[in-house]
Amino acid sequence: MQIIPLPAFQDNYIWLLRRGDAAVVVDPGDAGVVEAYLHAHALKLAAILVTHHHADHTGGIEALLAKRPMLPVFGPAAEAIAGVNRPVREGDEIALPVLDLEFAVLEVPGHTRTHIAFLAPGMLFCGDTLFSAGCGRLLGGTAAQLHASLERLAALPGDTAVYCTHEYTLSNLRFACAADPDNRDRDEWLDHCRRLRDQGLPTLPSTVERERRINPFLRTRALGVVEAVTAHAGHRPQDERACFAALRAWKDTF
Ligand SMILES: [Zn+2]
Repeated sequence: MQIIPLPAFQDNYIWLLRRGDAAVVVDPGDAGVVEAYLHAHALKLAAILVTHHHADHTGGIEALLAKRPMLPVFGPAAEAIAGVNRPVREGDEIALPVLDLEFAVLEVPGHTRTHIAFLAPGMLFCGDTLFSAGCGRLLGGTAAQLHASLERLAALPGDTAVYCTHEYTLSNLRFACAADPDNRDRDEWLDHCRRLRDQGLPTLPSTVERERRINPFLRTRALGVVEAVTAHAGHRPQDERACFAALRAWKDTF
């Protein structure tokens, strides 16, 4: 099986999973990008997975569905998204025999109140919850929810590939340099990502292990992060959750 990033809009990736002549897409914000790839590679779309309701993740669903009325579209049961015909919740399993793959559904609220992620062995499609060196903004959920969701993702096996929906890595790393100043792993990842972007290549997927080392939002117990937050906010956060909330607020205005 191959997993291919289809660039869309300014900085989105629509992830396309293909095996034989079958394809599944995650968060198709733009139907045209998907149709062009399917046509160029003579693939048949077998399913759509949707992490949350934002238009840059869902805008292409109805056009893709219009040509394929029987297409299964899996998305969060807790919010109404046009075109989602297989609502799923925490603990549900999604069998995709055309890919020889089964996904577990994780509810990871925070970016939105009802955001979900799709987990299979070695791969996580996490929408706008976890980015490389960053995390989603709070657009519906709370800082406490997002912190708990990220802690959960950080506890996945380290070699799990992290397929995020946005190419935000370099701008996130600029913030990470301020929020976690002495971090050699992060410096190496920054150099690597600069080279990739200079060549027009994606910095994604990342891995859970890398994010645990370099992502300040997963490092709210690291002394360097706590001290940077303390210096920025003017007082020391009481606990990890407070540190996370202060980091998220700092990044919003960085
Ligand atoms: Zn979003």
